[in-house]
Amino acid sequence: MITLRNVTKSYQTSTRPALDNVSVDIEKGEFVFVIGPSGSGKSTFMRLLLKDEKPTAGEVWVADFRVDRLPGRKVPKLRQRIGCVFQDFRLLQQKTVEQNVAFALEVIGKSRAFINRSVPEALDMVGLAGKADRLPGELSGGEQQRVALARAFVNRPLVLLADEPTGNLDPETSQDIMTLLERINRTGTTVVMATHDNTIVDAMRRRVVELDRGRIVRDEEMGVYGVGR
Ligand code: ADP
Ligand code: ADP
Repeated sequence: MITLRNVTKSYQTSTRPALDNVSVDIEKGEFVFVIGPSGSGKSTFMRLLLKDEKPTAGEVWVADFRVDRLPGRKVPKLRQRIGCVFQDFRLLQQKTVEQNVAFALEVIGKSRAFINRSVPEALDMVGLAGKADRLPGELSGGEQQRVALARAFVNRPLVLLADEPTGNLDPETSQDIMTLLERINRTGTTVVMATHDNTIVDAMRRRVVELDRGRIVRDEEMGVYGVGR
């Protein structure tokens, strides 16, 4: 589902590459944690998959897309296949919960009938059917992240990228978000989550890819956050 082959990413302003000859394969349906200290390349890894950044060298594949060579006009097609959630939720503050989720489908031209059917399903899945008419500002952080998850999942993406999705949440709320990510994963969606949260990584026992200064230093099935940390 995701392949990086000898990928190096150097930003013009820095001397050391953000990713340094990284190769990794992630199969359809896997759940993978990408961990590592701040500045180790986690966000760069995620941004390469979305073609937010272009690699300096190497190949990036997502589904059947050769991402590093994808022409600009095909980038929206790629991004339709990838759902994203972030630490800071990134909801539209002037739109209701329901409108936030619907908007993700409107911009890709889905029919009103499809939207009317899919949005309530997605809100139901994240347990927010009763709050469809609220504004994000009226919700707790955990609820806002659940809206973001509904929005990311409503179009049934092949891949869900989660960049520090629990970074602003307390431990109990974080656990709720992980339960939803597991549920999404069980539908067959490949989940890639960048995180610093050792408690979550240790509790989930999923694949762990650890980055350090742009290199993969560990890739382990059913991994823990770190030995002796
Ligand atoms: P992480 O997400 O693990 O904190 P990043 O991928 O954000 O790591 O950063 C990896 C390295 O690349 C860091 O040294 C960071 O300063 C640098 N970097 C990230 N984004 C940019 C950018 N847009 N321009 C220049 N340097 C960047
Ligand atoms: P996060 O790691 O929380 O996802 P970012 O990826 O935005 O945050 O930034 C990670 C690191 O990359 C930070 O050290 C930041 O200063 C650096 N960085 C991000 N964007 C740029 C940029 N355009 N130019 C230089 N450094 C950047």
